[in-house]
Amino acid sequence: MLGQVTFHPSNPGQPRHLTPEEFRILGRRMVDFVADYMASVDMWPVASQDGPGEVLARLPEHPPEVGLSAAAEPAEAWGEVFGDLTRIVLPGLTHWQHPSFFGYFPCNASGPAILGELLSAGLGVQGMLWQTSPACTELETRMLDWAAEMFGLPACFRSDAVNDGLGGGGVIQGTASEATLTAIIAARQRWRRLRRARAGALAGATGEIGLAEEAVDQRFAVICSEAAHSSVVKAAMMAGIAEGPDDEERVWRIGADAQGRMDVGELRRVLEQRAGDPAGPIPIACVATLGTTGVGAVDPVTEIGAELGRAGAERGAEPGAIWLHVDAAWAGSALVCPEHRAMATGLARADSLCINPHKWLLTSFDCDLFWTRARRDLVEAMSITPEYLRNAASESGSVIDYRDWQIPLGRRFRALKLWFVIRHYGLEGLRAHIREHVRLAEMVERFVRHDDRFELAAPRSLALVCFRVAGPDELTPRLVERVNASGKAFLSNAGFAPGTGRPRPIARMAIGGVLTTEEHVRKAWALVTRLVDELR
Ligand code: PLP
Repeated sequence: MLGQVTFHPSNPGQPRHLTPEEFRILGRRMVDFVADYMASVDMWPVASQDGPGEVLARLPEHPPEVGLSAAAEPAEAWGEVFGDLTRIVLPGLTHWQHPSFFGYFPCNASGPAILGELLSAGLGVQGMLWQTSPACTELETRMLDWAAEMFGLPACFRSDAVNDGLGGGGVIQGTASEATLTAIIAARQRWRRLRRARAGALAGATGEIGLAEEAVDQRFAVICSEAAHSSVVKAAMMAGIAEGPDDEERVWRIGADAQGRMDVGELRRVLEQRAGDPAGPIPIACVATLGTTGVGAVDPVTEIGAELGRAGAERGAEPGAIWLHVDAAWAGSALVCPEHRAMATGLARADSLCINPHKWLLTSFDCDLFWTRARRDLVEAMSITPEYLRNAASESGSVIDYRDWQIPLGRRFRALKLWFVIRHYGLEGLRAHIREHVRLAEMVERFVRHDDRFELAAPRSLALVCFRVAGPDELTPRLVERVNASGKAFLSNAGFAPGTGRPRPIARMAIGGVLTTEEHVRKAWALVTRLVDELR
């Protein structure tokens, strides 16, 4: 039984909305458009052939004064929108869903996730508070617990974990960059909490008052490896810790070993030398990476955790005074397979962790899963309650308000797409997705090893193969450029030569597309081998 909502305003000055019937027609047409795009995406050149300004030139310079809603039949008038999508937008796309897209890391869009996005937009919910849609909050809580289970995460990250009163749980953030910034802000809050507790204890014992917090707030530092994603330094800048991207006083970049992993020996030396300086900045957070952006290296989280603990103990700080955040944005999706969980053994020491299903787990952008074992530090850092957000449920303390777990106030209903993905594929399907890409990457690794025109630039990591053209360094970026210009496949560049300060160019082939099959990978490799001969 449908309700009585009116879509045609009685006052002619009001805008005319699409009626449910018109929306149905256009919605079906848009779904058809997307389905046709999916079915034919391989007919496009992978990289857009447009030059700068070409899309702009195809767009009208000014907005329309009178919209399509003024037409006698708006649903028909919308035909021009569909025409423009094909004429203006599609040629200006680099087709991330093309099965021969192997650049950067993948950005999976799948049918179930797209349906979740559609539903989220259709329900139009803004889930800042539990009260503003209990289902938006509670479905998300359940999805994060499901995901913790499917990735085999330690129990401290579950929403029901007590963790000595700090509380655990997870939330959906937009991106790994936001997750890292959130972790650093929570780390600073933890440091203040511990400091307040110590100052209180000291004052109780001696009658003295500890240092004013403001005096030391300016002296924090963040630790990460030289191979960490740039979002770590950016987060330190945004949190007011680092003054700029090159602030070595506030971001301690630890060298990487020959495989691109954080060098724990160097971490120890840095902690001994720098953290022992009472006048120097205080390290409050360390970001370790499972699957670095360049070559997919996996930092030794267990050893890093042990070094942080030792440094804290030597300085008389409480255990966990240096917050350990693990950035598993890409590689984390592989934890769905038990055979890839060795990289996660150190997670029991981590204070927070993030994984992006929008990269490699079939869930459309944006969807970053962020867990913490210290919900209290996070919420204390982020929570502010103006009068207009007060409500009985929040005040009862029995509900989660995810606005306090993230930077913005408002939030979309992103849990729907994750729910649909997990329900559609099941854990079996998700594992099969990862395993097939790892198998294909092993195949490419063999191709590289058995062809003396190429060399592996780093050990294969999961479904990422990094290689160089044998010979002068400049050949590798030229090869990538040619592959991409061909429109038949897409690779990306990076630099790698840890510890030298002079990264050598590498080509990255990241397998992980939803539609990628063995045939696409073989064809891409055949293209690479054909083009490499034309370089010389
Ligand atoms: N961390 C790592 C390891 C990454 O590889 C990336 C992007 O590829 C990011 C963070 C940034 O991801 P996001 O776009 O979700 O902020």
